[in-house]
Amino acid sequence: MQAMKQKTTKTAPETLLSSARTDKTPPEDLPSSAQNGSGAIQSAFRAVPAKKDLTILPALLLPWYGKNRRVLPWRENTDPYRVWISEIMLQQTRVEAVKEKYLQFLTALPNVFALADCSEDTLMKLWEGLGYYSRARNLQKAARMIAQNGFPETAEELKKLPGIGDYTAGAIASIAFEQAAPAVDGNVVRVLSRVLADTRDAATLKTAFQQELAPVYPPKKRGDFTQSLMELGATVCLPSSPLCGRCPLQKICKTRGDALPAKREKPQKRQIKAAVLLFRSGGGIWLCKRINGLLKGTYGFFFTQNPLQKDQLSDFLSRAGLQNFSFGKSEKHRHVFSHVEWDMTAYVVDTEENVSALSLPDGYFVDNEGATDFSALRLFSVQEAVSSLSVPSAFRWCLDLLL
Ligand code: SF4
Repeated sequence: MQAMKQKTTKTAPETLLSSARTDKTPPEDLPSSAQNGSGAIQSAFRAVPAKKDLTILPALLLPWYGKNRRVLPWRENTDPYRVWISEIMLQQTRVEAVKEKYLQFLTALPNVFALADCSEDTLMKLWEGLGYYSRARNLQKAARMIAQNGFPETAEELKKLPGIGDYTAGAIASIAFEQAAPAVDGNVVRVLSRVLADTRDAATLKTAFQQELAPVYPPKKRGDFTQSLMELGATVCLPSSPLCGRCPLQKICKTRGDALPAKREKPQKRQIKAAVLLFRSGGGIWLCKRINGLLKGTYGFFFTQNPLQKDQLSDFLSRAGLQNFSFGKSEKHRHVFSHVEWDMTAYVVDTEENVSALSLPDGYFVDNEGATDFSALRLFSVQEAVSSLSVPSAFRWCLDLLL
């Protein structure tokens, strides 16, 4: 076997821009402790009533948005199906990563009826690389309901569909149906907490701003107002070093800096050590469809949470019933999900025997997050795996070892 390298991939990359121009001049009316950095945030800012200060937002944001909005494929029109697909794809996913996938999705499934009727494999292939595959399954469940009953037009009705929460319901209702329905995500919380110097607990801000924004929606251009807040958070009021010199809210902003919202400590991710066996027979490779749990509906390789070392592999395979085999390349790889990290070691195993007929030896267990036993493995050509099956990024790197 060759010396192993380790690579890392991530599901659901960060959505926010990081290359920001810095304008850190603090406003003169800030308390000195706040001007000096993020220490003692709670005491540095005075919590203020939000509603009074928010009424001016449409007048300041709409002209700015008209001139500065990015040209994005989902902004070509406000058809509810297009708005809905884009909002679901953009959850936890970067705009740049979504653009091409969005266009491919709409070309393959141009309306709610096509989405309702397509096969799971087609849907997962179209979603490949976007992560959080349950979003795609919820989209199809919702599409089947919409195909029967029509597209709901209010946030309250939209929230009854699978996969649609407060934020997405507000985005669709305001952008597609011009309702006064706020859509408050992390970007909007960041903008408003800074404008208002609002030190309320971050966990309560979303709900609070959702209620406080509704009365200040303008009579027209409500969808644009929703998008102007999102756009400001994504392009100007950045998480670190906001571009205050370019901000249409600079004159009313009480913080002009990145001390708020207060940073929360991220919970530690669960670590799973695993061995991934890449069986290769002739020109084909063995994959199984994951039928439960994490990455359900996608295709992966044989995966065991027993972190088998190289010197244990022969014994494992012999006890499973494999008689003639040899080892090819191997590689270490870490894949980071939102709540768990997989530390994997992959081994290529060449054999001409029927791998799906093997039996798991006593004392070994397969992935308890959704994969199945040897019997679920099927032989595919590499070409088919690459072009037709949805192989998520957690496993896609393995294909390089097999080519
Ligand atoms: S709202 Fe504008 S002025 Fe205030 S911190 Fe954000 S970018 Fe700066």
